[in-house]
Amino acid sequence: DALNNSLSELRNINVSFEFFPPKTEQMEQTLWHSVKRLAPLKPAYMSVTYGANSGERDRTHDVVKRIQTETGVAAAPHLTCVDASREELKQIAQDYWQAGIRKIVALRGDLPKGVDKTELYAADLVALLKEVADFDIAVAAYPEIHPEAPNGQFDLLNLKRKAEAGATSAITQFFFDAEVFLRFRDRAAAAGIDLEIIPGILPVTNYNTLVRFAGMTNVHVPGWLHKMYEGLDDNDQTTRNLLGASIAMDTTRILAKEGVRNFHFYTLNRCELSYAICHMLGLRAG
Ligand code: FAD
Repeated sequence: DALNNSLSELRNINVSFEFFPPKTEQMEQTLWHSVKRLAPLKPAYMSVTYGANSGERDRTHDVVKRIQTETGVAAAPHLTCVDASREELKQIAQDYWQAGIRKIVALRGDLPKGVDKTELYAADLVALLKEVADFDIAVAAYPEIHPEAPNGQFDLLNLKRKAEAGATSAITQFFFDAEVFLRFRDRAAAAGIDLEIIPGILPVTNYNTLVRFAGMTNVHVPGWLHKMYEGLDDNDQTTRNLLGASIAMDTTRILAKEGVRNFHFYTLNRCELSYAICHMLGLRAG
């Protein structure tokens, strides 16, 4: 029957979880609660963002080291190159390798205001990291096109350069229609891009923040999603969480049916929704 069929598709699912370095004592507690709750699901790795131009690299490093030593889950720092010299980046990469880090999410980072080009793009960072050591490198991909790219083809060729420089996977920007991801995966395959394309899943807990963030990143928020939140009490967080979980579950279920086996979760340091979606995907703590 339909349920059994869909459950049998949910095998060999791999997940990864993304966190950001906490800024306050309370956010710190939320982060570690979430890391501990999600670690038993045995994710392939947990990644930690780095705010380009923010000088918080040390905090990313601290969280990554602590995840790896306290949970045994592989931890992957995000590394941006927009605000560092080649020499600095090589030094950081060497330090990470010596600390037992084997995976890095390699990014350019957003350009500071008023700047419209940079010496190093993400593809250059991938090549630089590969010169230092044999890291396993993930990069970013944009199903709805990066806001600065002149067109989709240009952006796709950029992704291809990142693959040729030595990346092995690409995590996508978040999206809400499964079709958007599937079409992008097809275009990447047709362009001969040899990367595992991993959907970036954003379980929505805050609709207003989402709408703002989507606007900044060229992500289309479909009409059905706006409708879903229409008329909902601002303080009704329970219903908001249930809706967010339901949307992400529908998307991941469709993708799993289409053969997607790896999922990356933008947890925003929260565990509840990601945990429930992973459970639905067949993952069990143990
Ligand atoms: P690139 O791949 O270098 O591309 C950037 C733009 O430049 C694209 O439009 C591309 O088409 C264009 N381009 C590439 N090469 C050239 C060239 N030679 N000449 C002209 N144009 C070129 N940001 C952070 O600050 N910290 C994080 O931790 C972080 N994590 C992220 C994780 C994921 C999964 C994703 C999807 C994004 C993340 N970002 C993060 C945001 C990211 O840094 C921005 O989207 C940034 O603007 C682009 O980074 P990129 O690595 O995609 O850049």
